[in-house]
Amino acid sequence: MSAGIEIAEVSKVYDGGVRAVDSVAMEIKAGEFFSLLGPSGCGKTTTLRMIAGFDTPSSGEIRIDGADITHVPAHKRDMAMVFQNYALFPHRTVAENVGFGLRMRKLDKATIAAKVKAALAMVELSGMDDRRPAQLSGGQQQRVALARAIVIEPRVLLCDEPLGALDKKLRQQMQFELKQLQKNLGLTLVFVTHDQEEALAMSDRIAVMNAGRVEQVGTPVEIYDRPQTRFVADFIGDTNIFRGQRVTVDNNGTGIAAGNGLVLELPGPPAAADGAVLSVALRPEKIRLAPKVDTLHPKHASANGTVESTNFLGGAVLYRIALDSGHRVLAQQPNAGAGQLYAPGAPVMLGWTPADLVILKD
Ligand code: ADP
Ligand code: MG
Repeated sequence: MSAGIEIAEVSKVYDGGVRAVDSVAMEIKAGEFFSLLGPSGCGKTTTLRMIAGFDTPSSGEIRIDGADITHVPAHKRDMAMVFQNYALFPHRTVAENVGFGLRMRKLDKATIAAKVKAALAMVELSGMDDRRPAQLSGGQQQRVALARAIVIEPRVLLCDEPLGALDKKLRQQMQFELKQLQKNLGLTLVFVTHDQEEALAMSDRIAVMNAGRVEQVGTPVEIYDRPQTRFVADFIGDTNIFRGQRVTVDNNGTGIAAGNGLVLELPGPPAAADGAVLSVALRPEKIRLAPKVDTLHPKHASANGTVESTNFLGGAVLYRIALDSGHRVLAQQPNAGAGQLYAPGAPVMLGWTPADLVILKD
């Protein structure tokens, strides 16, 4: 049965004083697809290795279903790990690779054969039993690694950038398949990635890490639409960040004066005292563009600007726009069909809803 994990104020300081993980606390629920997301060097692998038992925390506690396992050796944790480089045995067949953990557990031959067969079917490799890793594509090798992990029916599956070596199409297919497998088996899966799109697409919840610390834990929608910190807003997708003093705008609303006359109205009740300095984020796709028409009342626009560059992405178009106030913003529009592009130099009006502005903690 899959299990829940608690990480309680865990730190890891390596010899030489590198604080790779710094007071990390999070709770991973049983059956959850949970991702650790962050840039290279932020402590993702170290955190995963401590959950697996390959590394010991310098302080703090790791619990599985409430039981302290901080000092339980890896092979007694009933967990399996999948690595980016697959770590298959090159001279053994697919079936021998997948059956490895079962032989270690001293199961009888018939049981091993049956379990290996079922695991290979699950990752759609039936009939490949006798091949060696070198006779398989990268995607197939990754499936063997996955089969080898799930065949022991672990309480927790740990994956360290498992799809990192695959090209984009195959990677998306494997993302889908891994997610299906995880759901069908009800597995607790801790997934490490530096790829924000991958984390958003696959996870039930995500912990965004930065410099050994957890910046925010939340669902993909919370992380994307309601980033709490500047780091999270910046790291996940493109975003526009404005910074300025809080001011009172008409009818007692709150605004932020971002400089050169640009005032952005904020949603909700006053977030801070007048004069406080705030940062707010606005996603490019929350901005609507319209041609600038002189006869339109200026109240229809939140700002005016001029297109600086037009970046055609296929399904969408990303514009870099210089506002009349001098601020530069990104605005993304769905590809609405032929003839709908604004060319560089085009004057445009930008509109957005105050509710789409997110106030950030610095
Ligand atoms: P990530 O997986 O997010 O890229 P890691 O957990 O591998 O990050 O590394 C976090 C930090 O700890 C980095 O600064 C890295 O250089 C350092 N580090 C990792 N492993 C060791 C080690 N065995 N000894 C010393 N420093 C290490
Ligand atoms: Mg890593």
